[in-house]
Amino acid sequence: MSGPAVPPPASTARTDLWLESRYRKLRRGLPQTVFYCPACKGHRRRRQGCEQCGGFGKLTRESVQELIGRRLLPAMRARQGRFHGAGREDVDVLMLGRGRPFVFEVIGAKQPDVDLEALRADIEARAEGQIELAPFVRVGRQRIAYWKEAHFDKIYRADVAAGGAVAPERLRAAAAFAGAIVQRTPQRVAHRRADLGRERALRVLELQPRGELALELRVVCQHGTYVKEWISGDGGRTEPSLAALLGVPCRCVALDVEEILTDGVAGPRVSPPDAALPPAET
Ligand SMILES: [Zn+2]
Repeated sequence: MSGPAVPPPASTARTDLWLESRYRKLRRGLPQTVFYCPACKGHRRRRQGCEQCGGFGKLTRESVQELIGRRLLPAMRARQGRFHGAGREDVDVLMLGRGRPFVFEVIGAKQPDVDLEALRADIEARAEGQIELAPFVRVGRQRIAYWKEAHFDKIYRADVAAGGAVAPERLRAAAAFAGAIVQRTPQRVAHRRADLGRERALRVLELQPRGELALELRVVCQHGTYVKEWISGDGGRTEPSLAALLGVPCRCVALDVEEILTDGVAGPRVSPPDAALPPAET
């Protein structure tokens, strides 16, 4: 032995790193990322006296991003975290199955060498059942672009309210639907996105009555399909819709992403092998 061990010098270096995982979201009303108030944008000064958020700056107390970041950033003594999801579900939609892939970008970490498995367990424990995470994997920055650009079919499960009794033959026909649908940009997002007509492939996997005027639906569809609007028809902006197939008004009461069919996840597909259909003419 060559004398007493010399402790490494206390490092003040900061480093950036990227952690990949998948999240399952088990509570409705939890957004994926920080849900800033649309009126004041959470701005430190402008939010004071903001009527929409009461000065809080956000419209929900927490998000998937915050549930992770509030444990991860202090553990790594990091300045800031950015959340990069492979798409996102609506706030009121559960994310089940194997979960949604994401990359958590850690900026300016002073202590990057933490036990990632212990950290994951800590995040889950503090989230109190709202989210579950797959083990973190250290990845390179390029994984952000990969998940942003890759498109996957998804399986959804929905509770549907019907506005009238459904004829048995129409129920059978709707339960066997598989084909192309054309969706104009939904009214609820038309102010944010270009109003285009897009063709999407969709197949009904299951459609079962669940008591009077209630149905349970499972579908597999291409990325970018607006499932709530496919159910209702969105005032004729989606054709054909479940409502049109059944001949009664329909409304999505609850929606879950049951699986994102990323490479390696087994399940029925609807996308052609070389995905990304061009936008349909309308
Ligand atoms: Zn506000």
